[in-house]
Amino acid sequence: MFHSENLTVERPTFVSHLECSATGDRYEADRLHGLSDAGKPLLVRYDLEGMAQAIDKPALADRPPDMWRYREFLPVRSVRNIVSLGEVMTPIVSLTHTEERIGAASILVKDESRLPTASFKARGVGMAVTMANELGVSRVAIPTNGNAGAALAAYGSRVGMEVYVFCPEDTPEVNVREIAMLGAHVWRVNGLISDCGEIVAAGRDEMAWFDFSTLKEPYRIEGKKTMGLELAEQLDWDLPDVIFYPTGGGTGIIGMWKVFNELEAMGWIARKPRMVAVQAEGCAPIVKAYNDGLDHAEPWENASTVAAGIRVPSAIGDFLILAAVRDSGGFALSVSDAAIEQAQMTAAKRDGVMMSPEGAATLAGYERAIADGMVEPDDRVVLFNCGHGLKYPMPPADRTLDRTQPVDFAAMAAAARRAE
Ligand SMILES: *Cc1c(COP(=O)(O)O)cnc(C)c1O
Repeated sequence: MFHSENLTVERPTFVSHLECSATGDRYEADRLHGLSDAGKPLLVRYDLEGMAQAIDKPALADRPPDMWRYREFLPVRSVRNIVSLGEVMTPIVSLTHTEERIGAASILVKDESRLPTASFKARGVGMAVTMANELGVSRVAIPTNGNAGAALAAYGSRVGMEVYVFCPEDTPEVNVREIAMLGAHVWRVNGLISDCGEIVAAGRDEMAWFDFSTLKEPYRIEGKKTMGLELAEQLDWDLPDVIFYPTGGGTGIIGMWKVFNELEAMGWIARKPRMVAVQAEGCAPIVKAYNDGLDHAEPWENASTVAAGIRVPSAIGDFLILAAVRDSGGFALSVSDAAIEQAQMTAAKRDGVMMSPEGAATLAGYERAIADGMVEPDDRVVLFNCGHGLKYPMPPADRTLDRTQPVDFAAMAAAARRAE
């Protein structure tokens, strides 16, 4: 059996306690927790001094390239409990054509589509399943727009958990089938992800399942924060000026901001990036709250966008997203579905990068921010491509050639020119 050294070698761990993100109340580590008593997400806290003594950058650099190399930064106590499907360190790809077109210094895409189940949900859910495994959970349920459900199906099934998944009825077919094929029990629900969440909450007593909804358990944030660790390490601990993040439930933006603060406290980074929350115009509760100067967002009515992963009308961690955006000197902005589709096509056709619509929203958001003067062309920016474009419907390509007839190459060349 093959195992990365990160999955066999025990390393010291440094979790001191959990903390309510709203009240600061302490909760014991190494116990199963959902939300805090105040009904807010719990955050994992570490002995950062101990960490700074136990690990340094060169030691980290010697470890195999997967998210478990950051063990000292993570909550899992024993390697035995880690559930892994080969979480590669995802590559950073520059959008050279787009840089040229805009006259921008550096546009980098952190391409998270390379992860198991082809989205960055693998990081958060892999960590959450690892912790649920460590804490003895055997049945889990999740509301999802697709990718979180697929990741939970994969990681949960792998470790023998019973997995229940509820998704909006218009979730892309490929996601629903992927979830079923990976061994979960899946239902389409005639509503949005928040309606699916209500079903999970309502079934808790009778079904005795553990609620895996975004931020309703403490560990997805810890998995998602490895995006920030990886990015920092890949850029030689010199973070970019601005990060554009496709924001749904906000786990990733909250997780990255959390770990940037941990790294700063440990003296590992000198400066932190501005964090930009990108949403779709058809579902932009965080952007509205940001513009209105509010700390919490109102639920968004009639949410609708092609970017299914960020169609989250109401996020329980809204105040944490808004805090990350404001504390970092960033901002929140929304883009139209037309702009998302346009960005997706240019990234694919010109730069060879197949972005999901959510990932493309960050490119559209960046272009808008440049146009509005909210970022400068010489800012070093990182966009997150959170999922693989292949998981979404693509434009048709249905031209044919009849090999029994003479081929009209002049017409072929003319058609190719028209398509340019
Ligand atoms: C879940 C998801 C998002 C949103 O991520 P959060 O960290 O929950 O805000 C964006 N894009 C895709 C493809 C997703 O699956």
